[in-house]
Amino acid sequence: MSPSGRLPDVSVRLRAKRRIAAHHPWVFTDDVAASNEAAHGDLVRVRDNAGEVLGVAFWSARSKIALRMVSRADVVPDRAFWAARVDEALARRGAVVARWTARRLVFGEGDSLPGVVADLYGTHLVVQLLTAGAERVVDMIVAALRERVTIDSVLARNDPSVRTLEGLRREVRQLSGTTPDEIVLDEDGMSYAADPWRGQKTGAFLDQRENRLACRAYGRGRVLDAFSYHASFALHAAPRATEVVVVDASAEALARGRANAGRNAASNLTFVEANAFDDLRARERRGERFDLVMLDPPAFAKSRGDVTAARRGYKEINVRALRLLAPGGVLVTSSCSYNLDEASFEGILRDAAADAGRDAIVIERRGQAADHPVRLGFPEGRYLKCFVLRDASGAP
Ligand code: SAH
Repeated sequence: MSPSGRLPDVSVRLRAKRRIAAHHPWVFTDDVAASNEAAHGDLVRVRDNAGEVLGVAFWSARSKIALRMVSRADVVPDRAFWAARVDEALARRGAVVARWTARRLVFGEGDSLPGVVADLYGTHLVVQLLTAGAERVVDMIVAALRERVTIDSVLARNDPSVRTLEGLRREVRQLSGTTPDEIVLDEDGMSYAADPWRGQKTGAFLDQRENRLACRAYGRGRVLDAFSYHASFALHAAPRATEVVVVDASAEALARGRANAGRNAASNLTFVEANAFDDLRARERRGERFDLVMLDPPAFAKSRGDVTAARRGYKEINVRALRLLAPGGVLVTSSCSYNLDEASFEGILRDAAADAGRDAIVIERRGQAADHPVRLGFPEGRYLKCFVLRDASGAP
């Protein structure tokens, strides 16, 4: 790692310099002053307009996010540098996360490894590379992970749509070993199957793990799990419930949910294939009541332009869910749109409660799982918000 090593230079405007100083890892194209020699995916040395070095970053010639900071030191990242980053990522997860058989080992910017996601399912690693820069260094990161963790196979789930913004192909590729179609995992006593080849994300929603566990305590009477995917929220709530209604628009997701119910000998689940918007409306019309409702929709705001429509969507499902609550019932409601911060989501929930004619108490404000670290200087990294509300309308 020589400080005099040769990297292309990119110079940035004052606004970007301030952002970098505040530990934000992104520089947008508008804040780039010059990038003469840099090629798409290169590691570059970032300078201010006086030539002072601000650090090292991945350069994207395609995305609106032109630079993703890798380090604020004047280094030329080599194999040892990436291995040290992997050590830091594993160390910050520590023993708390080691007990999970499915866990995120690398979470992009949260681990100063921008664009790189690495999830471990038992002994099978699934990586997701979101930028051209990430593709250039992945071999060194995987090699470092292999030296530190038992890994039998590596699959690249490079199919997210954001790759097209970087001019990258969408593909799923076996990088080494053989990744099974289904990996059965244990989540604190609940057994479920991840689907690394075709499932959403890298095969399961690891980010909701702790929120699913929290739902155990709220399981009671009638339970509704809307946007259920493989019914993993439902299965944690089921032992204390009399009946759990599981709703998802995907027949494939429900089939896996049924198989998971079988694995856990849970016989109180009913599976409904439906658009949750319609299903919630129909149940409201019928005057149904639930003691626990869980809402975990996909990101309605995928870009900043979607936020207005997304707000309407979040509000609508939350109005209906609140109206479905029995007196004292609990709503566990999530948003994974990073364009909508926690305060905005809370505002939507407040409006929803007003529309629903309900009062509620915020019993918990939750976020993403501990293996999805959030950097204070990078609020966009805290994409998952989860509120636990208890109906308080009964009080005179
Ligand atoms: N709670 C799950 C993850 C849910 S992901 C877990 O912890 O594992 C969101 C789910 O919403 C997906 O399974 C998707 O199929 C489903 N979905 C998307 N749009 C929907 C709609 N309009 N109605 C019902 N389900 C929908």
